[in-house]
Amino acid sequence: MTVTHDTSLHDEFDRLHLWHPYTSTHDPLPTYLVDHAEGAEIILADGTRLLDGMSSWWCVIHGYNNPVLNDALTGQISRMSHVMFGGFTHRPAIELGKLLLSILPPSMNHIFYADSGSVATEVAMKMAVQAQNNPKRTNFATIRSGYHGDTWNAMSVCDPVTGMHGAFGSALPVRFFADAPECGFHDEWRDSDFDSMKDVIDKHGEELAAVILEPIVQGAGGMRFYHPEYLRKLRKECDRRNILLIFDEIATGFGRTGRLFAWEHAGVEPDIMLIGKALTGGYMTFSAVAASAKVADMISSGEAGVMMHGPTFMANPLACSVALASTRLLLDSPWKERIRRIEEIMNGILPTARDFPHVRDVRVLGGIGVIEVEQYVDCGEFQKRCVKEGVWIRPFGHNVYMMPPYLAVTDDQVERLAHALVKLVKELPHD
Ligand SMILES: *Cc1c(COP(=O)(O)O)cnc(C)c1O
Repeated sequence: MTVTHDTSLHDEFDRLHLWHPYTSTHDPLPTYLVDHAEGAEIILADGTRLLDGMSSWWCVIHGYNNPVLNDALTGQISRMSHVMFGGFTHRPAIELGKLLLSILPPSMNHIFYADSGSVATEVAMKMAVQAQNNPKRTNFATIRSGYHGDTWNAMSVCDPVTGMHGAFGSALPVRFFADAPECGFHDEWRDSDFDSMKDVIDKHGEELAAVILEPIVQGAGGMRFYHPEYLRKLRKECDRRNILLIFDEIATGFGRTGRLFAWEHAGVEPDIMLIGKALTGGYMTFSAVAASAKVADMISSGEAGVMMHGPTFMANPLACSVALASTRLLLDSPWKERIRRIEEIMNGILPTARDFPHVRDVRVLGGIGVIEVEQYVDCGEFQKRCVKEGVWIRPFGHNVYMMPPYLAVTDDQVERLAHALVKLVKELPHD
């Protein structure tokens, strides 16, 4: 079957008129027409079945077309799809809130429901500034290689090289960047790893509302796994200087790293925490910002006296219902064993790529396997070859990685994905 030139898979209207993520209208990356998806497979219009290695960017943890999640949504539709959260409340929001507070860090006490990950980042940064209630403490520090979303403030704390600082330059607020931690998750800790952050805090501590970062796993900004000790050091330093600590767990949440949330690897609690992506099992765009009682009190006794945010679709009942069903389904599943098994399979296969001359590093943590290569990977070319192999993987920069829907994939499917990843990396053009 020739797939790449099948016109039924490359829609002309789409190519001419629809923007896809980060694409040019002059020379758009190829897109493939999806007909439907089920379990761990995405089925294209010509019948080609692709084994999903991306969980549609971290979120589809139960797989596609899950009957329990479908029921949660259709059940809620017949009651009400939406109602404003100003002045009203509803059971899906309350039940979800109770469940989330039972699994989030113990100090989390208040939840703000938002519409997407990027908006959650905006809300968290606003919370920090409002909580500080001090015109001198309005800035943020973070670490390089991070990713926090594509809206204005979220962009400002993304990695200045792989992020969009180049395109927006002086239009972005200036943040303070510490070097990304060097010690990998499994390495031995070196105190010097914290020096750069210590410097930033020593120099700019008085200006900082908060430090924001992804705990343990840096996702789209570099696919790096760092040492838990970094977070313990950071927590102490933030406490000493009255700086709030924000953990962005939008990618790491709901089991992906082998713990329900990544902060658990370090035992360090944030003041504000963001969740999204897998929150609804990939069914709806939705996110939440959790805050400690201390932060909530600081905001409510601050100048405005209220948390200044309130999106139209806040706590949308459909999103809350499916998030509730997805989180229950996850907690009732043997997710820990599944992640451990997937990690084991990836550890048995991916490291063979270390022998290729163009491979820089191979790393695995929980349900994430990464092969980092020397050269920049051509995403369009790579995906053509993926489709021929019957797998779906989307490389980014120097990283080719897999993070399958862990509650839908079989062991055989994980093996197939891992072997395909190694083969596709082996065949990458290199010097
Ligand atoms: C994806 C992501 C975001 C942004 O979420 P969107 O829903 O795409 O706006 C923020 N932070 C992290 C860590 C993410 O992985």
